[in-house]
Amino acid sequence: MKSSIRNFFYPKSICIPGASTKELSIGYEILKTIKKFNYSGKIFPVNPKADEILGYHCYHSISKISDQIDLAIIVVPKRFTLDTIEELLAQNVKSIILITAGFKETGEEGKVREREIVDKIKDAGGSMVGPNCMGVINTLPEVNLNATFIAEEPETGKIAYLSQSGALGAMILNSLRLTDIRFAHFISVGNKADLNENDFVRFWESDENIEIMTMYLESFDNGFEFIKPLMLNEITKPIVVLKAGKTESGMRAASSHTGALSSHDKIVDELLKQFGVIRVDNINELFNTAKVFENFPAPKGNKVAVVTNAGGPSILLADKIEEEGLQLAELSNETKSKLREIVHPEGTVNNPIDLLPGGNEISFPQVIKAVLEDRNVDAVISLFVEPVMVKPMPIVEAINEIESDKPILQVIMPLPEFWNEYRENSKLRKPIFRNPEDPAEVLSNMLFHINGKEKRARLKSSNEEILSNVGAGKYAFNSGFITQAKAAEIAEHYDLPIVKEIIIDADKIDEQRIEFYPLVIKGINKEVVHKSELNAVKLNIRNSDELKKAILQISESFKSHKYITEKYLLQEFVEAKHELLLGGYRDPSFGPVIMFGSGGKYVEILDDTAIRSAFIAAEEITEMILSTKIGKILSGVRGEESVDLTKLTNIIKSASQMLIENEKIIEFDLNPLIVDAKDQFHAVDIRIKFGE
Ligand code: ADP
Ligand code: MG
Repeated sequence: MKSSIRNFFYPKSICIPGASTKELSIGYEILKTIKKFNYSGKIFPVNPKADEILGYHCYHSISKISDQIDLAIIVVPKRFTLDTIEELLAQNVKSIILITAGFKETGEEGKVREREIVDKIKDAGGSMVGPNCMGVINTLPEVNLNATFIAEEPETGKIAYLSQSGALGAMILNSLRLTDIRFAHFISVGNKADLNENDFVRFWESDENIEIMTMYLESFDNGFEFIKPLMLNEITKPIVVLKAGKTESGMRAASSHTGALSSHDKIVDELLKQFGVIRVDNINELFNTAKVFENFPAPKGNKVAVVTNAGGPSILLADKIEEEGLQLAELSNETKSKLREIVHPEGTVNNPIDLLPGGNEISFPQVIKAVLEDRNVDAVISLFVEPVMVKPMPIVEAINEIESDKPILQVIMPLPEFWNEYRENSKLRKPIFRNPEDPAEVLSNMLFHINGKEKRARLKSSNEEILSNVGAGKYAFNSGFITQAKAAEIAEHYDLPIVKEIIIDADKIDEQRIEFYPLVIKGINKEVVHKSELNAVKLNIRNSDELKKAILQISESFKSHKYITEKYLLQEFVEAKHELLLGGYRDPSFGPVIMFGSGGKYVEILDDTAIRSAFIAAEEITEMILSTKIGKILSGVRGEESVDLTKLTNIIKSASQMLIENEKIIEFDLNPLIVDAKDQFHAVDIRIKFGE
């Protein structure tokens, strides 16, 4: 980790080139915010025309500052940025935030400028946040730094937040009084020309003031560097990601099925899942999740007890509980008899426990304490809708006071004035939720994190071994799809179950004695990707007469499409019970990924595939297989026996290894990988593409 990263959050001195005396300019407002927030270190505003700003001595140039500068926050106009950076580097400043905009986001020229700046800073051993960003906050009392231009004063907590969008960062700061998020650190990273989420994740993992990392991202510029520390179990804190931009990219260039079947977003989605990163759908879920991690213990299991005074909302909650893979806890008889003494005779002692509108500050906590003692309960959700005769505040406070190693989450649906009262008068001010569905979503995210963390610890050494094989392969061919013969050679090396086959030059086909029937004959031309579309695949050929006919048909069909039949591929005909797809692709950001699912001619229509990083352990491969429909079928339905999933897992493992070891392979696909009636696997169509 770059040592200069710490200075972005814990600087003892800050220089602000571009500080201004003009109210409402960024150069003025940022200084005003820093002052208002009581920054604990030294401030050096720089402006050639001012002697003093907001009571601070203002330097006419950076070179006039004789003290050490831990952090520079640049707000000068774009045309002065390069000079400013050179001056800072001359003063040995290593940490720079470039707030100024007008770089990569404006086009080619801006991109070149941005590159130039980053190169300069890196050559000098420094690092930069931005450009085109809105600053940094560290609310911890020993620093008290708010170098943004937003009026709100965030309260201190244990959450770190990184925003790729300045506006989204601002929006979140603006809504702090509604959301009650308490940050330790906030950083807006803008164009991410140098430092990005990967750097901050590592830093926050090492910073004991941070317990949860949250981020809004529009891109993973180096997705592999993001997942690698997770693979190696170097990250244990929860990471919650809101990722926008679900549009296609990167994969569009891919020509095989593997490419066409996976959008970049699908890769992001499945890989984050694979490595235990929580991906959320919206800002609400992002911060609800973070707040719960910050304030409550994690549940040990997925069984939830619901205590409520409201029927309808609790049904919505129960639906969500199921949807999120949680369960309504089955209460023990002992608990139920305890509850019968508390709950109104017309209420319910089955989960959800309905206290009816009379439920109050006595019965709610009593019931919650009773269910907390039940071994079948891992978490409690209290759901209160305000009726005329009961005030929410005493109930909420009484529940807040309950101490337990199980999480107790509260949903309150009160009159609007409640929220202010809660902010002002609550003793513990634990987070409470507004929508009945919120806590279920959050509990499931927490469990997902716990399971992911355990899995990463378990797989650490296996992943280390896989990573040590990167580039260990020996295959290097010219770019493009390689010939059938070469593909077969690689497949054999990696023990992929290639079907018995021979390749014959087209002009020698007549002299060749063919001994095995029934067979399949395919016409080959380098340019032809989908042979059956050109009628160049003839199945179940039983004798030499049929073979002659097939050869004629294939060569005529090729001719009519202006292709030369270069070779013929003759294979054993296998009776297919299932056709599978096994593919792989080198994603520009996340590196090698593999794909498994339903195969054959109808892959696109079946659309039944799972994607994972090729850095994958056997147990995860089996889970991947079973996550697809065809995987469930293979594992045996309606009394059928399961195919040998271990064998299939090994095949997928070898294919991943092929991709990991041979970095020049950019794409491969086995489509189909046939399963026959005797549960043997046969790769009948292997394609491998090499890159530059
Ligand atoms: P392409 O994908 O280029 O059209 P394939 O070699 O995948 O050509 O063949 C098309 C289809 O023919 C396969 O999806 C499979 O159903 C069938 N097929 C191909 N080879 C065999 C074989 N050796 N045995 C049985 N069926 C085969
Ligand atoms: Mg095929």
